[in-house]
Amino acid sequence: MNSWTSRRMAARLGATAFMVAVAVAVPPQAWAAEGFVAGAPGLGDPFFPLAGNGGYDVTNYSIELGYDPATRHLDGTTTIAATATQNLSRFDLDLRGFDVSRVAVNGRPATFNRDGQELVITPQAGLRSGRPFTVVVSYAGVPTVITDPDGSIEGWVPTDDGAFVVGEPQGSPGWYPVNDNPRDKATYDIRVAVPDGLTVMANGVLVSRTSSSGRTTFVWRESSPMAPYLATATLGRFDLTQYNLDSGLPVYIAVDPTLSSAAVLKKLPDIFAFYSSIFGPYPFDAVGAIVDDAKNVGYSLETQTKPVFDRVPDEATLAHELAHMWYGDSATLSTWPDIWLHEGFATWSEWIWSEYNGRKSADQYFDNLYNNPPQDTAFWTPPPGNPGTPAFMFNGTIYYRGAMTLQALREKVGDTTFFRILRDWAAENRHGNVTTPQFIALAERDSGLNLQQFFDIWLYQPAKPTSW
Ligand SMILES: [Zn+2]
Repeated sequence: MNSWTSRRMAARLGATAFMVAVAVAVPPQAWAAEGFVAGAPGLGDPFFPLAGNGGYDVTNYSIELGYDPATRHLDGTTTIAATATQNLSRFDLDLRGFDVSRVAVNGRPATFNRDGQELVITPQAGLRSGRPFTVVVSYAGVPTVITDPDGSIEGWVPTDDGAFVVGEPQGSPGWYPVNDNPRDKATYDIRVAVPDGLTVMANGVLVSRTSSSGRTTFVWRESSPMAPYLATATLGRFDLTQYNLDSGLPVYIAVDPTLSSAAVLKKLPDIFAFYSSIFGPYPFDAVGAIVDDAKNVGYSLETQTKPVFDRVPDEATLAHELAHMWYGDSATLSTWPDIWLHEGFATWSEWIWSEYNGRKSADQYFDNLYNNPPQDTAFWTPPPGNPGTPAFMFNGTIYYRGAMTLQALREKVGDTTFFRILRDWAAENRHGNVTTPQFIALAERDSGLNLQQFFDIWLYQPAKPTSW
């Protein structure tokens, strides 16, 4: 449990107060006297301080889009259900690009202006702390592709036949107005209309697929809490295969028909079963993969329930992204400098999948990297617990030294305790947010050992660990 979980609980309990909130709306002349103030433009993340906004907590996004790949024009109406966490005279959403035509709060037109990535909204009446409210934003235009501090691209990235839609760490405002911070998880309804013949792949389960007047509308529902950067609406020409696992869990596999062979995806049920056996119950109500031809993007991403791949993945990459469902998507970092909690875990998961199949063991991966690191001294910095700048958050050391940290922990505490730590971490933080100190505390609790020095050496010292 953590404070953000508690906030979501409070938001759900507050849903019954909606009508009351409208009835007792506070007029502008009384705002100052009653302590109504503007919500903060950001949540102060050390790497992306303006991502996310203060003063409210989102419970659901309902995103309705129309997109035509020929013109690259996107029409959007996004409805956000939220709860105020302070008395608000004004609040922000994050949105990059687009012309905004209309904003309404609780059904009444609101004034708004744009300030960089901030969409600043002033409702006609103040919003009381603890009360739910709704925001509707209508917008349109050609989406702007976002370039990250490390030079990679994200957001709504056009492809030959559609769009490759990825949001880590700051691409979501490139296609919908959002409280773009991983601590504000919400459920999602994603409805996208595209020309007939194209397929839209989004998170969760496929609710409906209907065609009329030359356009097909796909409706997806993600009913588990999701961090904004994990949303997708990747679209294009896809062969979509749907089947159920023995448990009844629906599997959605979408493959761009121009790609040669995606036979590796037949491994998905086995990888899924293995991870479920060592990490604990799968946290979501659908699983799958989206394999597109978008090699200019240069990476794959663990979009919730269905990782998206820019090419046919190899088996290790498929295993990596599926492991993120437990470590990253369900147990999600609270601030971006803790990215090793995602990437170290997913990389170590590649190793244990290899070990389970009788191939190279996690110990052998560790030894090879320890004795023959790819770039000698530069391999060890920055340390995984402190990338230093957002340009280094996807640096190889975050992945490899992060995974080595877990393997070193495994050897220190033994397999029985180590696998209990992994399961407890997933179970106790299911659909929640986490920090590195929380992981260290859990590892110490489960092992009964003082691990402060161990983790300091492995996570925070900018040098090759020599004794631990
Ligand atoms: Zn990863």
